[in-house]
Amino acid sequence: MDPLDVMMNKEKVIPYYQPIISADKQLVVGYEVLARMETEEGVEKLGWFFQDKSIPDDFRLELDDHMQKKALDAFLETEQKDVLFFNYDANLLLKDNGETLLKRIEPYREKGLNLNQIVLELKEEEVSNHLDDIKHLLAYLQNMGIRIAIDDLGQSNTNLDQIAMLKPNIVKVNVTFMEAEELPHLYREVHHSLAMLSRKIGATLLFEGISNFNQLNYAWRNGGRYYQGFYLMRPVPKFVNSAICKEKMQKEFHHFIVFERRKMEAQLALSNQLNQQLKALMKKISEQDSYDEMIMKVAKDCNPFAFRIYICNEEGFQQSSNAEKRRENDWVLIEEGRYKNWSWRPYFLENIVRMNVEKRGILSDLYTDIDRDERIRTYSYPISESLYLFLDIPYDFLFEQDGLL
Ligand code: CA
Repeated sequence: MDPLDVMMNKEKVIPYYQPIISADKQLVVGYEVLARMETEEGVEKLGWFFQDKSIPDDFRLELDDHMQKKALDAFLETEQKDVLFFNYDANLLLKDNGETLLKRIEPYREKGLNLNQIVLELKEEEVSNHLDDIKHLLAYLQNMGIRIAIDDLGQSNTNLDQIAMLKPNIVKVNVTFMEAEELPHLYREVHHSLAMLSRKIGATLLFEGISNFNQLNYAWRNGGRYYQGFYLMRPVPKFVNSAICKEKMQKEFHHFIVFERRKMEAQLALSNQLNQQLKALMKKISEQDSYDEMIMKVAKDCNPFAFRIYICNEEGFQQSSNAEKRRENDWVLIEEGRYKNWSWRPYFLENIVRMNVEKRGILSDLYTDIDRDERIRTYSYPISESLYLFLDIPYDFLFEQDGLL
Protein backbone atom coordinates (compact mmCIF):
# COMPACT_ATOMS: atom_id res chain seq x y z
CA MET A 1 0.00 0.00 0.00
CA ASP A 2 1.12 3.52 -0.77
CA PRO A 3 1.20 6.26 1.90
CA LEU A 4 -0.96 8.38 -0.37
CA ASP A 5 -3.57 5.60 -0.60
CA VAL A 6 -3.74 5.67 3.17
CA MET A 7 -4.20 9.43 3.29
CA MET A 8 -6.82 9.36 0.53
CA ASN A 9 -8.81 6.72 2.42
CA LYS A 10 -8.46 8.13 5.88
CA GLU A 11 -12.00 7.20 6.84
CA LYS A 12 -11.00 3.54 6.46
CA VAL A 13 -8.29 3.94 9.10
CA ILE A 14 -9.66 2.85 12.45
CA PRO A 15 -8.24 2.32 15.91
CA TYR A 16 -7.79 -1.16 17.33
CA TYR A 17 -7.28 -1.53 21.04
CA GLN A 18 -4.82 -3.91 22.65
CA PRO A 19 -5.78 -4.54 26.26
CA ILE A 20 -3.17 -3.98 28.96
CA ILE A 21 -3.75 -6.10 32.04
CA SER A 22 -2.46 -5.45 35.52
CA ALA A 23 -1.04 -8.13 37.77
CA ASP A 24 -2.48 -6.82 41.01
CA LYS A 25 -6.17 -7.06 40.14
CA GLN A 26 -5.83 -9.12 36.93
CA LEU A 27 -8.08 -6.56 35.23
CA VAL A 28 -7.73 -4.62 31.99
CA VAL A 29 -6.38 -1.21 33.01
CA GLY A 30 -5.91 0.33 29.59
CA TYR A 31 -5.50 -0.08 25.84
CA GLU A 32 -2.71 0.66 23.42
CA VAL A 33 -4.30 2.33 20.40
CA LEU A 34 -3.08 0.76 17.15
CA ALA A 35 -3.88 1.92 13.62
CA ARG A 36 -5.62 -0.55 11.31
CA MET A 37 -7.05 -0.07 7.84
CA GLU A 38 -10.15 -1.71 6.44
CA THR A 39 -9.34 -2.99 2.95
CA GLU A 40 -10.97 -5.38 0.52
CA GLU A 41 -8.59 -8.08 1.75
CA GLY A 42 -9.58 -7.48 5.36
CA VAL A 43 -8.21 -5.36 8.18
CA GLU A 44 -4.52 -4.53 7.75
CA LYS A 45 -1.90 -3.24 10.15
CA LEU A 46 -0.60 0.27 9.64
CA GLY A 47 2.37 0.35 12.00
CA TRP A 48 4.74 0.82 9.05
CA PHE A 49 3.12 4.14 8.21
CA PHE A 50 4.17 5.69 11.50
CA GLN A 51 7.65 4.18 11.49
CA ASP A 52 8.53 5.31 7.96
CA LYS A 53 10.29 8.63 8.47
CA SER A 54 10.28 9.29 4.74
CA ILE A 55 6.53 9.90 4.92
CA PRO A 56 5.98 13.64 5.39
CA ASP A 57 5.54 14.75 9.01
CA ASP A 58 2.24 16.40 8.17
CA PHE A 59 0.79 13.11 6.93
CA ARG A 60 1.84 11.25 10.04
CA LEU A 61 0.58 14.02 12.32
CA GLU A 62 -2.72 14.11 10.47
CA LEU A 63 -3.24 10.37 10.72
CA ASP A 64 -2.22 10.32 14.39
CA ASP A 65 -4.72 13.08 15.03
CA HIS A 66 -7.41 11.19 13.13
CA MET A 67 -6.75 8.04 15.18
CA GLN A 68 -6.75 9.90 18.46
CA LYS A 69 -10.06 11.56 17.62
CA LYS A 70 -11.71 8.24 16.77
CA ALA A 71 -10.36 6.53 19.87
CA LEU A 72 -11.28 9.39 22.20
CA ASP A 73 -14.81 9.60 20.74
CA ALA A 74 -15.35 5.90 21.32
CA PHE A 75 -13.73 6.10 24.74
CA LEU A 76 -16.05 8.81 26.00
CA GLU A 77 -19.14 7.46 24.26
CA THR A 78 -18.77 4.12 26.00
CA GLU A 79 -17.81 5.79 29.29
CA GLN A 80 -14.51 3.99 29.74
CA LYS A 81 -12.77 4.34 33.09
CA ASP A 82 -9.39 3.02 31.98
CA VAL A 83 -6.44 4.53 30.17
CA LEU A 84 -5.59 5.04 26.49
CA PHE A 85 -1.99 4.55 25.39
CA PHE A 86 -1.14 6.58 22.27
CA ASN A 87 2.06 6.03 20.33
CA TYR A 88 3.68 9.31 19.43
CA ASP A 89 6.77 10.23 17.50
CA ALA A 90 9.03 12.13 19.89
CA ASN A 91 10.37 14.26 17.03
CA LEU A 92 6.88 15.33 16.03
CA LEU A 93 5.96 16.02 19.62
CA LEU A 94 9.00 18.25 20.03
CA LYS A 95 8.51 19.96 16.70
CA ASP A 96 5.37 21.80 17.80
CA ASN A 97 5.94 21.52 21.54
CA GLY A 98 3.05 19.11 21.89
CA GLU A 99 0.58 21.65 20.50
CA THR A 100 -1.21 19.35 18.01
CA LEU A 101 -1.69 16.80 20.74
CA LEU A 102 -2.91 19.24 23.36
CA LYS A 103 -5.30 20.86 20.88
CA ARG A 104 -6.71 17.46 20.05
CA ILE A 105 -7.27 16.55 23.67
CA GLU A 106 -8.64 19.89 24.88
CA PRO A 107 -12.28 19.50 23.69
CA TYR A 108 -12.46 16.09 25.36
CA ARG A 109 -11.47 17.55 28.70
CA GLU A 110 -14.62 19.59 28.61
CA LYS A 111 -16.55 16.40 27.92
CA GLY A 112 -15.16 14.78 31.02
CA LEU A 113 -11.83 13.23 29.97
CA ASN A 114 -9.28 13.26 32.76
CA LEU A 115 -5.76 13.87 31.50
CA ASN A 116 -4.42 11.04 33.60
CA GLN A 117 -6.40 8.70 31.36
CA ILE A 118 -3.87 9.45 28.62
CA VAL A 119 -0.50 7.78 28.31
CA LEU A 120 1.94 8.87 25.61
CA GLU A 121 4.26 6.15 24.36
CA LEU A 122 7.57 7.47 23.11
CA LYS A 123 10.30 5.25 21.73
CA GLU A 124 13.51 5.21 23.71
CA GLU A 125 15.58 5.59 20.58
CA GLU A 126 13.80 8.78 19.51
CA VAL A 127 13.78 10.28 22.97
CA SER A 128 17.49 9.76 23.53
CA ASN A 129 18.30 11.88 20.47
CA HIS A 130 16.84 15.00 22.08
CA LEU A 131 17.25 14.28 25.73
CA ASP A 132 17.64 17.82 27.03
CA ASP A 133 14.80 19.36 25.04
CA ILE A 134 12.36 16.58 25.57
CA LYS A 135 13.01 16.31 29.28
CA HIS A 136 11.32 19.69 29.86
CA LEU A 137 8.44 19.03 27.51
CA LEU A 138 7.71 15.68 29.18
CA ALA A 139 7.84 17.22 32.65
CA TYR A 140 5.37 19.88 31.44
CA LEU A 141 2.96 17.25 30.06
CA GLN A 142 3.29 15.17 33.22
CA ASN A 143 2.48 18.23 35.27
CA MET A 144 -0.79 18.52 33.36
CA GLY A 145 -1.57 14.91 34.27
CA ILE A 146 -0.61 13.13 31.05
CA ARG A 147 1.48 10.08 31.74
CA ILE A 148 4.60 9.16 29.80
CA ALA A 149 5.67 5.67 28.80
CA ILE A 150 9.08 4.94 27.33
CA ASP A 151 8.55 2.33 24.64
CA ASP A 152 10.80 -0.39 23.20
CA LEU A 153 13.10 -0.62 26.16
CA GLY A 154 15.27 -3.39 27.42
CA GLN A 155 17.48 -3.89 24.41
CA SER A 156 21.01 -4.45 25.55
CA ASN A 157 21.93 -0.84 24.76
CA THR A 158 19.38 0.64 27.13
CA ASN A 159 20.70 3.69 28.95
CA LEU A 160 19.55 3.41 32.52
CA ASP A 161 20.82 6.88 33.38
CA GLN A 162 18.63 8.41 30.66
CA ILE A 163 15.58 6.65 31.99
CA ALA A 164 16.34 7.85 35.49
CA MET A 165 16.64 11.40 34.16
CA LEU A 166 13.38 11.30 32.15
CA LYS A 167 11.32 9.90 35.04
CA PRO A 168 8.68 8.16 32.91
CA ASN A 169 5.53 6.88 34.60
CA ILE A 170 5.67 3.61 32.69
CA VAL A 171 8.54 1.64 31.23
CA LYS A 172 7.65 -0.72 28.35
CA VAL A 173 9.80 -3.74 27.68
CA ASN A 174 9.27 -5.97 24.66
CA VAL A 175 9.76 -9.69 25.29
CA THR A 176 9.59 -10.95 21.70
CA PHE A 177 13.38 -11.44 21.85
CA MET A 178 12.63 -14.55 23.91
CA GLU A 179 11.30 -16.41 20.90
CA ALA A 180 14.88 -17.28 20.18
CA GLU A 181 15.13 -20.60 22.05
CA GLU A 182 17.83 -19.80 24.59
CA LEU A 183 17.25 -16.70 26.68
CA PRO A 184 20.37 -14.57 26.48
CA HIS A 185 21.70 -13.71 29.93
CA LEU A 186 22.35 -10.21 28.80
CA TYR A 187 18.65 -9.43 28.59
CA ARG A 188 17.88 -10.96 31.93
CA GLU A 189 20.45 -8.77 33.65
CA VAL A 190 19.27 -5.64 31.81
CA HIS A 191 15.67 -6.37 32.76
CA HIS A 192 16.62 -6.99 36.35
CA SER A 193 18.35 -3.61 36.45
CA LEU A 194 15.34 -2.03 34.78
CA ALA A 195 13.05 -3.54 37.39
CA MET A 196 15.22 -2.18 40.18
CA LEU A 197 15.48 1.24 38.57
CA SER A 198 11.73 1.43 37.93
CA ARG A 199 11.12 0.65 41.54
CA LYS A 200 13.51 3.38 42.65
CA ILE A 201 12.05 6.09 40.40
CA GLY A 202 8.44 5.01 40.95
CA ALA A 203 7.74 3.86 37.38
CA THR A 204 5.51 0.93 36.48
CA LEU A 205 7.07 -1.86 34.44
CA LEU A 206 5.01 -3.07 31.48
CA PHE A 207 5.98 -6.13 29.45
CA GLU A 208 4.58 -6.25 25.91
CA GLY A 209 4.76 -8.74 23.09
CA ILE A 210 3.75 -11.59 25.41
CA SER A 211 2.78 -14.39 23.05
CA ASN A 212 3.30 -17.50 25.16
CA PHE A 213 3.37 -18.94 28.67
CA ASN A 214 7.14 -18.55 29.12
CA GLN A 215 7.06 -14.88 28.27
CA LEU A 216 4.26 -14.23 30.73
CA ASN A 217 6.24 -16.10 33.34
CA TYR A 218 9.33 -14.06 32.53
CA ALA A 219 7.36 -10.81 32.87
CA TRP A 220 5.97 -11.93 36.22
CA ARG A 221 9.37 -12.99 37.55
CA ASN A 222 10.96 -9.73 36.46
CA GLY A 223 8.73 -7.33 38.31
CA GLY A 224 6.19 -6.60 35.55
CA ARG A 225 2.99 -5.08 36.84
CA TYR A 226 1.33 -4.56 33.44
CA TYR A 227 1.16 -7.14 30.64
CA GLN A 228 0.26 -6.88 26.98
CA GLY A 229 0.35 -9.41 24.15
CA PHE A 230 -1.48 -11.97 22.02
CA TYR A 231 -1.15 -14.63 24.71
CA LEU A 232 -3.49 -12.59 26.90
CA MET A 233 -5.48 -10.78 24.24
CA ARG A 234 -5.23 -9.69 20.63
CA PRO A 235 -5.99 -6.12 19.62
CA VAL A 236 -9.74 -5.72 19.19
CA PRO A 237 -11.92 -3.08 17.50
CA LYS A 238 -13.93 -2.49 20.69
CA PHE A 239 -13.25 -2.01 24.37
CA VAL A 240 -13.64 -5.20 26.40
CA ASN A 241 -14.96 -6.30 29.76
CA SER A 242 -12.22 -5.52 32.24
CA ALA A 243 -12.33 -9.01 33.80
CA ILE A 244 -11.84 -10.75 30.44
CA CYS A 245 -8.45 -12.26 31.37
CA LYS A 246 -8.94 -12.59 35.09
CA GLU A 247 -9.54 -16.32 35.24
CA LYS A 248 -6.66 -17.11 32.89
CA MET A 249 -4.25 -14.86 34.81
CA GLN A 250 -5.20 -16.40 38.13
CA LYS A 251 -4.56 -19.88 36.75
CA GLU A 252 -1.17 -18.86 35.32
CA PHE A 253 -0.15 -17.11 38.51
CA HIS A 254 -0.99 -20.26 40.43
CA HIS A 255 1.42 -22.26 38.21
CA PHE A 256 4.14 -19.64 38.63
CA ILE A 257 3.79 -19.60 42.38
CA VAL A 258 3.83 -23.40 42.73
CA PHE A 259 6.97 -23.55 40.60
CA GLU A 260 8.78 -20.73 42.40
CA ARG A 261 7.88 -22.18 45.77
CA ARG A 262 9.47 -25.47 44.77
CA LYS A 263 12.64 -23.60 43.85
CA MET A 264 12.69 -21.74 47.13
CA GLU A 265 12.14 -24.98 49.03
CA ALA A 266 15.06 -26.59 47.18
CA GLN A 267 17.28 -23.65 48.09
CA LEU A 268 16.20 -23.79 51.69
CA ALA A 269 16.84 -27.54 51.81
CA LEU A 270 20.40 -27.09 50.51
CA SER A 271 20.96 -24.26 52.94
CA ASN A 272 19.78 -26.42 55.86
CA GLN A 273 21.88 -29.36 54.75
CA LEU A 274 25.05 -27.26 54.53
CA ASN A 275 24.29 -25.58 57.82
CA GLN A 276 24.02 -28.91 59.63
CA GLN A 277 27.03 -30.40 57.92
CA LEU A 278 29.25 -27.42 58.75
CA LYS A 279 27.98 -27.23 62.30
CA ALA A 280 28.93 -30.87 62.84
CA LEU A 281 32.29 -30.37 61.15
CA MET A 282 33.19 -27.30 63.25
CA LYS A 283 33.01 -29.48 66.36
CA LYS A 284 35.79 -31.63 64.92
CA ILE A 285 38.09 -28.71 64.15
CA SER A 286 40.58 -28.03 66.90
CA GLU A 287 41.55 -24.58 68.10
CA GLN A 288 45.15 -25.33 67.15
CA ASP A 289 44.23 -25.65 63.48
CA SER A 290 45.34 -22.73 61.33
CA TYR A 291 42.77 -21.10 59.06
CA ASP A 292 44.28 -22.89 56.08
CA GLU A 293 44.04 -26.23 57.86
CA MET A 294 40.41 -25.42 58.66
CA ILE A 295 39.44 -24.74 55.07
CA MET A 296 41.19 -27.89 53.85
CA LYS A 297 39.13 -29.90 56.35
CA VAL A 298 35.98 -28.19 55.08
CA ALA A 299 37.06 -28.89 51.50
CA LYS A 300 37.39 -32.60 52.23
CA ASP A 301 34.02 -32.70 53.95
CA CYS A 302 32.14 -30.56 51.41
CA ASN A 303 33.94 -31.76 48.30
CA PRO A 304 30.81 -32.41 46.19
CA PHE A 305 29.36 -28.96 46.90
CA ALA A 306 32.28 -26.62 46.51
CA PHE A 307 35.06 -25.48 44.22
CA ARG A 308 36.46 -22.62 46.32
CA ILE A 309 36.53 -22.04 50.09
CA TYR A 310 37.94 -19.24 52.24
CA ILE A 311 37.48 -17.46 55.58
CA CYS A 312 36.96 -13.73 56.19
CA ASN A 313 36.65 -11.70 59.36
CA GLU A 314 33.62 -9.52 60.15
CA GLU A 315 35.10 -6.58 58.23
CA GLY A 316 35.59 -8.63 55.09
CA PHE A 317 39.37 -9.14 55.30
CA GLN A 318 40.23 -12.60 54.06
CA GLN A 319 42.03 -14.52 56.82
CA SER A 320 42.82 -17.77 55.03
CA SER A 321 44.21 -18.65 51.63
CA ASN A 322 41.79 -19.87 48.99
CA ALA A 323 41.22 -23.59 48.95
CA GLU A 324 40.54 -24.37 45.29
CA LYS A 325 39.53 -27.64 43.71
CA ARG A 326 41.74 -28.72 40.83
CA ARG A 327 40.11 -32.06 40.16
CA GLU A 328 37.68 -34.21 42.06
CA ASN A 329 38.98 -34.47 45.68
CA ASP A 330 42.16 -32.64 44.70
CA TRP A 331 42.36 -29.34 46.57
CA VAL A 332 45.18 -26.81 46.61
CA LEU A 333 45.84 -23.72 48.71
CA ILE A 334 46.31 -20.44 46.86
CA GLU A 335 47.86 -17.93 49.22
CA GLU A 336 47.33 -14.89 47.08
CA GLY A 337 43.77 -14.28 48.28
CA ARG A 338 44.78 -13.69 51.89
CA TYR A 339 44.11 -10.19 53.37
CA LYS A 340 42.07 -9.09 50.41
CA ASN A 341 38.94 -7.23 51.45
CA TRP A 342 35.47 -8.27 50.26
CA SER A 343 33.28 -5.81 52.19
CA TRP A 344 32.54 -3.83 49.00
CA ARG A 345 30.68 -6.72 47.44
CA PRO A 346 26.90 -6.45 47.15
CA TYR A 347 25.09 -7.95 50.18
CA PHE A 348 28.38 -8.69 52.00
CA LEU A 349 27.83 -6.60 55.11
CA GLU A 350 24.11 -7.28 55.16
CA ASN A 351 24.83 -11.02 55.16
CA ILE A 352 27.43 -10.74 57.93
CA VAL A 353 24.92 -8.95 60.15
CA ARG A 354 22.19 -11.44 59.29
CA MET A 355 24.41 -14.45 60.03
CA ASN A 356 25.44 -12.89 63.28
CA VAL A 357 21.84 -12.40 64.37
CA GLU A 358 20.39 -15.63 62.98
CA LYS A 359 23.41 -17.82 63.85
CA ARG A 360 23.10 -19.79 60.65
CA GLY A 361 24.42 -19.80 57.09
CA ILE A 362 22.98 -18.09 54.02
CA LEU A 363 22.74 -19.30 50.41
CA SER A 364 23.29 -16.48 47.92
CA ASP A 365 21.41 -15.73 44.71
CA LEU A 366 22.77 -16.91 41.37
CA TYR A 367 25.54 -14.73 40.04
CA THR A 368 28.39 -14.97 37.58
CA ASP A 369 31.82 -15.85 38.97
CA ILE A 370 34.40 -13.57 37.38
CA ASP A 371 37.18 -16.16 37.17
CA ARG A 372 35.12 -19.05 35.89
CA ASP A 373 32.61 -17.04 33.87
CA GLU A 374 29.80 -19.32 34.99
CA ARG A 375 26.80 -18.89 37.23
CA ILE A 376 27.36 -19.98 40.81
CA ARG A 377 26.00 -19.51 44.32
CA THR A 378 27.94 -18.89 47.51
CA TYR A 379 27.13 -20.38 50.87
CA SER A 380 28.26 -18.23 53.80
CA TYR A 381 28.51 -19.66 57.30
CA PRO A 382 29.26 -18.00 60.67
CA ILE A 383 32.09 -19.84 62.44
CA SER A 384 32.10 -17.28 65.25
CA GLU A 385 31.14 -13.62 65.69
CA SER A 386 34.34 -12.60 63.95
CA LEU A 387 34.95 -15.43 61.47
CA TYR A 388 32.89 -16.35 58.44
CA LEU A 389 33.32 -19.20 56.01
CA PHE A 390 32.56 -18.78 52.30
CA LEU A 391 31.94 -21.76 50.09
CA ASP A 392 31.47 -21.26 46.34
CA ILE A 393 29.15 -23.82 44.75
CA PRO A 394 29.84 -24.65 41.10
CA TYR A 395 27.32 -24.51 38.26
CA ASP A 396 27.65 -28.27 37.65
CA PHE A 397 26.36 -29.07 41.11
CA LEU A 398 23.47 -26.57 40.90
CA PHE A 399 22.55 -27.90 37.48
CA GLU A 400 22.23 -31.48 38.69
CA GLN A 401 19.81 -30.58 41.48
CA ASP A 402 16.21 -29.52 40.98
CA GLY A 403 15.34 -25.90 41.61
CA LEU A 404 18.76 -24.44 42.26
CA LEU A 405 19.17 -22.55 39.00
CA1 CA B 1 3.98 1.09 21.43
